[in-house]
Amino acid sequence: MSGLAEDGGLLLPRAIPRIDKETFDSWQGLTYQKLAFQIMSRFIDDIPVSDLKGLINKSYESFDHHDVAPLIHRGDLHILELFHGPTLAFKDIALQFLGNLFDYLLKKNDSYMNILGATSGDTGSAAIYGVRGKKRIKIFILHPHKRISPVQEKQMTTVVDDNVFNIAINGTFDDGQEIVKEIFGDIEFKRAHRLGAINSINWARILAQVVYYVHCCLHIAAHEKDSASAFSVPTGNFGDIFAGFIARRMLPEGIISKLILATNANDILSRFVATGDYSLKKVVRTSSPSMDIQAASNFERYLYYLFDKEPDRVKEAMQTFKTTGSLDLSDYMGHIKRDFLTTSISDKEVVDTIASFYKKHEYVLDPHTAVGVHAAMNHRTQGVPMICLATAHPAKFGETVEKAIGRPLTLPPVLADIMGREGRCVVMDADQQEIMSYLNKHAIKE
Ligand SMILES: *Cc1c(COP(=O)(O)O)cnc(C)c1O
Repeated sequence: MSGLAEDGGLLLPRAIPRIDKETFDSWQGLTYQKLAFQIMSRFIDDIPVSDLKGLINKSYESFDHHDVAPLIHRGDLHILELFHGPTLAFKDIALQFLGNLFDYLLKKNDSYMNILGATSGDTGSAAIYGVRGKKRIKIFILHPHKRISPVQEKQMTTVVDDNVFNIAINGTFDDGQEIVKEIFGDIEFKRAHRLGAINSINWARILAQVVYYVHCCLHIAAHEKDSASAFSVPTGNFGDIFAGFIARRMLPEGIISKLILATNANDILSRFVATGDYSLKKVVRTSSPSMDIQAASNFERYLYYLFDKEPDRVKEAMQTFKTTGSLDLSDYMGHIKRDFLTTSISDKEVVDTIASFYKKHEYVLDPHTAVGVHAAMNHRTQGVPMICLATAHPAKFGETVEKAIGRPLTLPPVLADIMGREGRCVVMDADQQEIMSYLNKHAIKE
């Protein structure tokens, strides 16, 4: 629950458990939930078995597909649909579990917490849905007033549970982010209110995401001659693809043969994989906004493995990156190229990919998924199943999708429903003091 480690670094398990071929084969036919238990219980030894099973079951009850993450086949690609949760994006898979896990731990320790975060859209709604109605948690989410899409806004503000506080600030996403950072920097305030974050660096989020890789590999092993698969993953914060990296380390050799790291025009991770140059550039706005990120928070975790598990070297590199905004890792190219392939995709290519995929297969990709699908086309190998991670429902990004397929999308019932509802939200100036006194007034206290 602590997010960062005491020295400011990220947490990782001491060791990644290995799954032998026999065990892997024995998991064939397990439900998503049962498989999740098999995987998570190898990392979690401080929650009783029946409690952990209960947490997992509860977390995926909110999904609208019995398989949780169904695999769809189109042409010679497989699409792993990760958007069947309550906010129609893949972050639900981790945040539904995280919400229940936090609630459980808080109950056990007779404690409480206040979550504070800033969002540019997707993470905020997935976090709100993860903790709505929880008695020991209140959540305060800042978003830039009138600067997020109508769907995103409604997804957050129509959640009117007593423990949910939506704050629209007169300012940009960066203003919100900055205020949140400042408030977290006020150690006394943070302690007094037991402030917690919703950032993407929580290890439990990665763990929950490892499950769908393994689930998918089992499906492929059951249906294809060869059990090797390649995955194409649209990435911004290095979270989703890092879960794939962990899954590959756990599974028997060769089950995950390739991991393709796909980025939009914010290509710091692509440049890193292609040349070893990990250096910051300005963030540009694209049609896949959930990947409009430069410094990828989970990247530090990968460095640990790149640096032969020597934390001191990771610390030194992160220090260099912090002061200079860049890292030269070209000496490690051999290693990096064994781990990943990469392509960065332009907005024009995204629209073209959505259009041609729709024409050929009558399947509508969202812009994030299209980034991964385009990259997959560049790296296909004959005979190796290629799985593209579909990270959002296309209706969440209707504008781009409409442009590509030439007609508006019908909203899925959950979205149509909230679009017609009145939301609840306070509008405030981007003023740290004002927001702190709002928190003071509404935060959960002992
Ligand atoms: C967050 C997000 C991503 C990127 O996930 P990472 O964990 O940063 O790789 C991709 N697509 C969608 C729709 C997202 O919300």
